[in-house]
Amino acid sequence: MEVAVAGAGPTGLFTAVALARRGHRVAVIDRDPGPAADGTWERRGVMQFHHPHGFRPQISEALAAEMPEMLTALDQAGAERIVFRGGDGEPAPHAALRCRRAVFERVLREFATAEPGVSLVRGHVDDVLRSGGRAAGLRVDGRSFDADLVINASGRAARLADDLRAPGEGGDCGLAYVSRQYALLPDAERGPMNAPVGIIQTLAGYMIAIFLHDRGTFSALFIRPADDRRFGALRFPAAFEAAALAVPALAAWVDPSRSTPITPVLPGGRLYNTYRGQLDAAGRVGLPGLLHVGDAVCTTNPSAGRGIAVSLRQAVALVRLLDAHPGDPEAVALAFDGWCVDNVRPWFSDHVSWDTDILRRWAGGDIDTTRRLPSDLIMEATEADPTLLRVVGPYMAMEALPSTLDEIEPRARAIYARGWRPPPHPGPSRDELASLIAAAV
Ligand SMILES: Cc1cc2nc3c(=O)[nH]c(=O)nc-3n(C[C@H](O)[C@H](O)[C@H](O)COP(=O)(O)OP(=O)(O)OC[C@H]3O[C@@H](n4cnc5c(N)ncnc54)[C@H](O)[C@@H]3O)c2cc1C
Repeated sequence: MEVAVAGAGPTGLFTAVALARRGHRVAVIDRDPGPAADGTWERRGVMQFHHPHGFRPQISEALAAEMPEMLTALDQAGAERIVFRGGDGEPAPHAALRCRRAVFERVLREFATAEPGVSLVRGHVDDVLRSGGRAAGLRVDGRSFDADLVINASGRAARLADDLRAPGEGGDCGLAYVSRQYALLPDAERGPMNAPVGIIQTLAGYMIAIFLHDRGTFSALFIRPADDRRFGALRFPAAFEAAALAVPALAAWVDPSRSTPITPVLPGGRLYNTYRGQLDAAGRVGLPGLLHVGDAVCTTNPSAGRGIAVSLRQAVALVRLLDAHPGDPEAVALAFDGWCVDNVRPWFSDHVSWDTDILRRWAGGDIDTTRRLPSDLIMEATEADPTLLRVVGPYMAMEALPSTLDEIEPRARAIYARGWRPPPHPGPSRDELASLIAAAV
């Protein structure tokens, strides 16, 4: 088959290589020019490109299944493999990766470019070509690009073929990122960690994180309510530095004796929780031969670092369904839609309830024990009752769907109803931090 893929992000490139390895000829079209001659890569259409990314084991699992040499290429590029131990104490079969997204994508792009059967084309995809009631290719900068199968991997702002899909669910999640990348100084030790990725803490009205990357680099991150305008000034280096040095868990990392900034402060655009299936408003396949995958199907608030794991899982499922239904893209679309409803949509719903409730609590509300707890509180309750980890662990690792938490939710809720609260992390409240930011600018 001739396949046209709109979007050369992680999902589009992964899918293209997987399909080419099945004997198809795949053109991947993206408006992005790729890295510049001097090695820099602005990636204007993908605002999260330089923000911190955690690469969960599901990503290594997908690569191992479809293109294992890519893992070796990532090793050579400096990515660090982190192997977790499962509940049985045995090492998990697949490693998480510590790596800047720019490094991950550069390696994937080079890998796809070298793959026989894959060609990368620079251009803006305007629309999907339709002929005889089927997808017939893409219109790229006014030119026709014929194909037997069209894959929309154009990311979270995807508007391609809008008329052929039912409207998406969800929207702005109400939180915003501000981050900055640093490099550890030679011989400097890492700062404190409480998670494989680095450190993640919820303070009074906001969150902070350190994400470790490749070659001694890391990102420091603030996650805060998007509508708190006092935090807009965090984009100024002096304000970011003052704020980071005021939070002990961040200060230990960004202290000038330990590390140095390697990027400007990166303000984050809007963060979404969205889900959009394959079908039209009447529940039919909008256009046989057109399939949507990756963030074009589901975007989740990145604070749990699930996006690429969910996207590549989708891509693996999709190529396997194409194998299972050769020549019947309508059957593939229906089967893939059902698979996404069962395996992708629950992560969207999980984040919607989590984010709605955390914003309510950050605005002064108490933990509400009259209704189901959101997942973050169930996770935190493991500090009071570590036996809950039997169920929480697989959910946190994305080995089990959010619904598996239902079994222990009543126990977690009883813990809060008795008055237990997660011990606070040291650091300023959001109001105190806002004052510090204002003083710094
Ligand atoms: C701030 C932030 C932090 C994140 N952190 C994490 C994390 O820690 N871990 C994790 O797993 N995920 C994370 N994510 C999610 C992750 O970034 C996405 O899941 C991932 O980018 C999805 O890849 P994709 O290929 O589907 O889409 P994208 O990466 O968005 O790629 C889409 C591509 O399509 C191209 N394109 C779009 N429209 C057109 C057009 N009309 N014509 C031509 N080209 C077009 C774009 O240029 C782009 O190259 C984060 C997201 C955000 C916003």
